[in-house]
Amino acid sequence: MIDEHAWDDYFTRLNRKQFASPDETGSEKLMDYDFLCWLQQLAVSCQTFFAVSSGYRTPIHNDEVGGSPNSSHMKGLAADIIVKGSLQRFLLVERSLRMGCKRIGVYRNMVHIDMDIDKPSMVLWNGLG
Ligand SMILES: [Zn+2]
Repeated sequence: MIDEHAWDDYFTRLNRKQFASPDETGSEKLMDYDFLCWLQQLAVSCQTFFAVSSGYRTPIHNDEVGGSPNSSHMKGLAADIIVKGSLQRFLLVERSLRMGCKRIGVYRNMVHIDMDIDKPSMVLWNGLG
């Protein structure tokens, strides 16, 4: 459970509200702390502030958006980061790999990054949307 001050003190490049499941106010606190620390460092490395279209998801919301039945979003271990164009997408994937990410999904308008060690490692997939 993430202390609310952590957002102001540490996660300065992540928008707190964007990490909440839309059906549960305050659920951003269910994100994994170490994963958010890593994402913050990734944003610093990319010299940007991330816009996230999906962070934590309740099981109900995950169903609504057609997420995988065991989605890492429900564990607070995944984020969908919005990208505008090829260069942003390239930099995000390149830095994520350099910083040890082993699970990346590349979509047209976003990149799914996850650090779920209970799932297969060294996977890079592409998807629609
Ligand atoms: Zn995702």
